[in-house]
Amino acid sequence: MKKEYIIGREGDQKFEIDDHKFSAVSRRHAKLTVDEESNEWRLSDEGSANGTYIVDSRGDLVQVTGEVAISPTTRISLGGKRYNALTIVAHTVVDGGSTFAPDFDELEHRLADLKRRMTKKRNNLKWRRIILALLPIVCLVIPGLGMEARFISISAASLLNAVLGSMDDPTTLAEERSRTIVCPKCGRALSDKDVERHSCPCGAH
Ligand SMILES: [Zn+2]
Repeated sequence: MKKEYIIGREGDQKFEIDDHKFSAVSRRHAKLTVDEESNEWRLSDEGSANGTYIVDSRGDLVQVTGEVAISPTTRISLGGKRYNALTIVAHTVVDGGSTFAPDFDELEHRLADLKRRMTKKRNNLKWRRIILALLPIVCLVIPGLGMEARFISISAASLLNAVLGSMDDPTTLAEERSRTIVCPKCGRALSDKDVERHSCPCGAH
């Protein structure tokens, strides 16, 4: 059987939405459809004033047009980047946020994946620095090269170093962490310890 929930200031989600604090949320903002047999969750916008968005795995907002498949732990933003928008986790529409266990399970996996990617990036950087530092020396000691050829090789190596260096963005993964490793209830960034303990200082667990 399919169950439909209207999400909004006058919606039938299992929690109240503060009219003043979250004024970017329409009375009838979005619709969640849950197929209880197949456990398929679908979300659509109900013609809201400020739009319905989902937060993707990199922490970016993606606007919902038409009907999209989501999971119970998908973060939904009612109103997008507006200061008075509201971000919720899909299952709270149905259960009111009595437990965030599935969200913390997912956060643990996500954090482990992020840490793997951070380590990999650091290692790649280290080796590239070593190779590029050695390149001009190699150009100098190759026998039989004219002065001009040596000069061009050394310039090319340092140019390559500068270009690749400017492409490094060490903040990207840290930024992704601050946008994705957040409390499913209050939205604050969580520490490694919080994720490990499956709880947030706000009381969500
Ligand atoms: Zn919290």
